[in-house]
Amino acid sequence: MSHVFHRNPRQQLDFAVRGQGIELFDQNNKAYIDASGGAAVSCLGHGHPVVIQSIKDQLDQIAYAHSSFFTTRAAEDLADFLAQRSPGDLNHVYFLSGGSEAVEAALKLARQYFVEVGQPTRRHFIARRQSYHGNTLGALAIGGNAWRREPFLPLLVPAYHVSPCYAYRDQREGESQEHYAERLAQELDHKIQELGAENVAAFVAETVVGATAGAVAPVKTYLKRIREVCDRHGVLLILDEVMSGMGRTGHLFACAEDQVVPDIITIAKGLGAGYQPIGAMLASSRIYDAILAGSGFFQHGHTYMGHATACAAALAVQQVIEQEHLLDNVLARGEQLRAELRSALADHPNVGDIRGRGLFVGVEFVQNKDTKATLDPVLKTHASLKKQAMQNGLLMYPMGGTIDGVHGDHVLLAPPFICSDSDISEIVTRFTRTV
Ligand code: PMP
Repeated sequence: MSHVFHRNPRQQLDFAVRGQGIELFDQNNKAYIDASGGAAVSCLGHGHPVVIQSIKDQLDQIAYAHSSFFTTRAAEDLADFLAQRSPGDLNHVYFLSGGSEAVEAALKLARQYFVEVGQPTRRHFIARRQSYHGNTLGALAIGGNAWRREPFLPLLVPAYHVSPCYAYRDQREGESQEHYAERLAQELDHKIQELGAENVAAFVAETVVGATAGAVAPVKTYLKRIREVCDRHGVLLILDEVMSGMGRTGHLFACAEDQVVPDIITIAKGLGAGYQPIGAMLASSRIYDAILAGSGFFQHGHTYMGHATACAAALAVQQVIEQEHLLDNVLARGEQLRAELRSALADHPNVGDIRGRGLFVGVEFVQNKDTKATLDPVLKTHASLKKQAMQNGLLMYPMGGTIDGVHGDHVLLAPPFICSDSDISEIVTRFTRTV
């Protein structure tokens, strides 16, 4: 009898015992193609020898030193690597141990920034419906699914929600992308005015929505228009790239494609690619300098931040991706995945939309392609789909539903960046057999 307190104690879980390349193996040696990368985590696949060696080397030197006494070469080198490649002047890298921690730190940094610059009433956050930012109380407050927040009310952070940029569902017939983006920017503008700009700290959005909507990328110009609204009101822009960042879309930072520089970016998942738990928050010089010139101390921190072994693993992951030009493969294999899914599922009565950027791909299911009505309550559909996929030797990430008026039964596919073209075709074959 296991004594692990599993998230879903009624679920019978198999054991993952081995991982090699794009496959995981269970206790019966059954192989599964990891086409969701966990949840967009395993971008280098499993058992990568270079990453494993980097972890061993780091352990031989020093596994951990508390960040209030020392920094380490691994942390400094990883920060340099990220800062040199980050958009704009997002050069100040604050390490954490995962996505929720990174988001939580970003919320606190935004609040402290406004205290430092003498605008302490800027405490409120605006985020979007149908978004996920993590499960800690602050991250949960800004997350866009009311049903997730419900059991934990009242939450500690005042947060308000506006519409996501979800063209398949909400762009009107005949409406241009520019007009749609403008309409959403106006909605944000109105929300800020309603709350009073002097009370709003930041607008938070996933650059490409992951788990809650299935790789929903914004229309062109959306983020630019949002950036303008934020600037007009002195509101910070926080982009959550915990899922969409670190090359998943074919760009190291997803927002590079939108040509927008936020004030803070959060990253995690693909940063350590599952080899070690690590996340980070990248802040602009404006914010960093305000802290430096003000109290000189960011009032936030965790025991394991900047963990040397985690930083060494993440640096090795990112160097392999760069040296092997894997982001080119992400772009090419992503195009292939969408094209093959579209052709294999063209006659499927319930496949409404196939979308995404790079190897961040969503397939949305509907009852009726014209009305786009959703299938049944998802939580039913998604468990059975996941099980069926596993029987077919495929790991994929189904989610969604009609819960709290949010639409979209979907499956997220986020295969490793090392997939070959035949791997992608095999994923499509198993996926088509499953749905
Ligand atoms: N933000 C986004 C966009 C995410 O997708 C997730 C995880 N699914 C998180 C934050 C939280 O990350 P973690 O589970 O590592 O705490």
